[in-house]
Amino acid sequence: MRSRKNRLWICFLTGAITLGSWGCGEPPPLETTYVPDDDAPVDPAGFTSASEATRAAHAQVKASLDLQDPQDLFDAERGLIARPGKLRIEDDEGRVLWDLGHYQFLEGDFQEDDAPATVNPSLWRQAKLNHQIGLYRVSDRIYQLRGFDLANMTLIRGQSGWIVVDPLTAEQTARAAFAFAMEHLGSEHGSAVGDEAAPISAVIFTHSHADHFAGVLGLISAEEATGKRIPIIAPGGFLAEATSENILAGPTMARRSMFMFGPRLPRGPRGHVDSGLGKAPAYGKLGILPPTDVITSTPERRRIDGLEFIFQNAPGSEAPAELTFHVPELKAFCGAEVVSRTQHNLYTLRGAQVRDALAWSAYIDEMIRLYADAEIYFGSHHWPIWGRARILDFLEKQRDVYKFIHDQTVRLSLQGFTPDEIAETLELPEELRSSFSVRGYYGTVKHNARAVYQRFFGWFDGNPAHLDPLPAAQSAAKYVELLGGADRVLKEGRAAYDRGEYRWAAELLNHLVFAHPENAEARESLAQVYDQLGYQAESAAWRDTYLTGALELRHGPPETGFDQKQAIDLARHAPVERFLDAMAARLDAEAATGLDMTVNLTFTDLRRSFVLRLERSVLHHRELPPDPEADAGLEITFDLYLRLNMGTAGLKDTLFSDQLDVDGSRIALLRFMRLFDKPSGTFAIVTPD
Ligand SMILES: [Zn+2]
Repeated sequence: MRSRKNRLWICFLTGAITLGSWGCGEPPPLETTYVPDDDAPVDPAGFTSASEATRAAHAQVKASLDLQDPQDLFDAERGLIARPGKLRIEDDEGRVLWDLGHYQFLEGDFQEDDAPATVNPSLWRQAKLNHQIGLYRVSDRIYQLRGFDLANMTLIRGQSGWIVVDPLTAEQTARAAFAFAMEHLGSEHGSAVGDEAAPISAVIFTHSHADHFAGVLGLISAEEATGKRIPIIAPGGFLAEATSENILAGPTMARRSMFMFGPRLPRGPRGHVDSGLGKAPAYGKLGILPPTDVITSTPERRRIDGLEFIFQNAPGSEAPAELTFHVPELKAFCGAEVVSRTQHNLYTLRGAQVRDALAWSAYIDEMIRLYADAEIYFGSHHWPIWGRARILDFLEKQRDVYKFIHDQTVRLSLQGFTPDEIAETLELPEELRSSFSVRGYYGTVKHNARAVYQRFFGWFDGNPAHLDPLPAAQSAAKYVELLGGADRVLKEGRAAYDRGEYRWAAELLNHLVFAHPENAEARESLAQVYDQLGYQAESAAWRDTYLTGALELRHGPPETGFDQKQAIDLARHAPVERFLDAMAARLDAEAATGLDMTVNLTFTDLRRSFVLRLERSVLHHRELPPDPEADAGLEITFDLYLRLNMGTAGLKDTLFSDQLDVDGSRIALLRFMRLFDKPSGTFAIVTPD
């Protein structure tokens, strides 16, 4: 009986979590990078060469921007102590998590003529700047490790040890980065890895996105942190946000993030080149340490390992929980990800709640006043800025870009413009447009303006024709018929492609693919359109979205979704209720029609029990003592619940486990467990199914 029970339980639970807010995708990308000849008509993955229209668009980008401005490169290279000769980080199973060899095609200084015809020259410049990898001295006591993962790890030398700011996404990358730093800073600071002379004296998590905290267990264990009383400082609300932001909707976001971050794409000029923020997240093992000290107001002062820190609490800015800080003695401040050297996302394409542009902008304005004395800015991504005047210019433009998009979107909405029209019309003023740090390498004016509209007015633009439209496959079939059939639509789509009208070609051919997904010529034609749209995009997120669309039209959706095992150490700290919410959101309403059931669920190790009520195809949970009238009951440890959930405990482990027990009717429990979906995270996006 036990084996049957357990098997069902696995189906019931799986799919409840994915990792933090940068989303996730599949295991690492193709191991090898190939750099096709610019002129090769088709590369091994099917990506086509740049069209004349794309080359012309790139020429226009070159003419409109001073891409050779050397200041950013100078800043990105400044203070280099050491560069890893080879950086290939694997997990215990030998999977490659991080390999700089994948990005070898970005080696060398930026020359605008070097930009391949298949990459927007402005994005190529950013991709090269983000390829400055190594250990850098920001100032006497501040060091940064850049290029060991998506984000930066910053080390501040305190009186007795290292204050670690943002320990990367994965245990493995964090460990490698810190070891590299100690290897090179050892002689200077009398420290080496594991050397008691220079331990980690504090950890600061700037915000609740996984690329800034989830590698922490690669540096210190929970026991060590507690035993040595190492302060862990984080913004208010950090733990709940960091662990549970995506539990409910995780599988959908994870699937969509495969488009935004391009983990399935080959690395190369016809594939992934950058994410705008850095290269890409390392898909390794995630963990967290609960904060021992939480910043909840502004300004808040702390003495950390002999240095005075002044914190700004900035919840609801770039992340739901975020802080920035100033170290007056070092005349330096950390802007976390509230500011960065790109326009950020008010809406993120993987799908997430829209951020508040006005609040975000106001935090940056506050930062200008709080950190007026700082001579050095450094952040959670990208490279630092030295000098008060340049820092002020940077902060003002970051502040203004979000406020401009906010104010002008609202203004245009007052005149009756719809989101499509606003996105098409809105253009940044010249002073912002010509500044690289607010250009759209990650967020874009177009999708951020739509986000502002959405925040105020939601998905409906007010036009009755858009109130209840036919689903894509149905309207596509009618359009194709009306336009004279598949061959005609294909011909018109190809003609639009030939004219370089890619957005129109995408619309036509998308109708054709949705009406006739089996039509290989239609799929390939649409893929070729996406190739060009991807090559032209300045935003890395747009590029990866289009190119992943092309890849999936040619090769289909992925076979597997995100490997949830990696996130178990993170999930342990998530509130139990979030998992129960997630369970309710996986209830197959149709299968549950007419059922009325009560199930007791007890987490024996937590000494908490919940009564689950199913009625009217809705599942509720309440924390109550077990209901003696319940149809069934299950007693389980939270740990086993999680391990089953993440797939780290299989049938064998649990077959004889005393961590699980069933009360009441096994048949009722069995029936109940069969009611829940198991999302695979592999659904189709560019085809109807
Ligand atoms: Zn980040």
